[in-house]
Amino acid sequence: MNIIEIFASIQGETSYSGLPTTFIRLAACNLRCSWCDTPYSFGRGTPWTLEAILDKVKENGLRHVCVTGGEPLLQKEVHVLLSHLCDAGYIVTLETGGSLSTQDVDPRVVVILDIKCPGSGMSDKNHWPNLLLLRAFDEVKFVLLDRQDYSYAKEVCDHHNLWSLGCQILLSPVHGQLDAQELVGWVVQDRLPVRLNLQIHKYIWTPETQGV
Ligand code: SF4
Repeated sequence: MNIIEIFASIQGETSYSGLPTTFIRLAACNLRCSWCDTPYSFGRGTPWTLEAILDKVKENGLRHVCVTGGEPLLQKEVHVLLSHLCDAGYIVTLETGGSLSTQDVDPRVVVILDIKCPGSGMSDKNHWPNLLLLRAFDEVKFVLLDRQDYSYAKEVCDHHNLWSLGCQILLSPVHGQLDAQELVGWVVQDRLPVRLNLQIHKYIWTPETQGV
């Protein structure tokens, strides 16, 4: 598999925020979100064998493993990797940009599904059938650039009745572009059953720091 980096840090977002985690960042992405914070993942990466990846994860010795990108579902071998990680007893999350089908993902994996809003420039790439595959322990993430994105997220949740699924719905302001206080004001005013998703690694380190 082509890998950008494997590192140990704390999970910076989702409801797993703050938990020590091994990250496996797979190379390449089929999208180009306007606010992307990991453009270094667009490259070809370095080839790693499945065994070498599993050895590295074991060496890190952490219970949580997050497979991310780029877009991890671009590499078909990711499914074998995910299943091996589950077999080994790790709590595994998969972060996907939401443009490719999640139907072949091992059912033991927690899917963190992005739904791209207009501000990303990629909202026409959302693979809507993925919403039908969501389980209560999966999470849906909207990254918001502005008020228009917030309204879009609400409309998507209403239209697809995501509120009834029981899964976490994460609203994440684009760091440095949408004021979190403003977003909190909208959420509280509308009484939305969502979770504010701040990327805490950008507060612990600088927003540009890689490998954290
Ligand atoms: S899907 Fe993720 S990695 Fe790809 S361009 Fe968007 S933010 Fe960047």
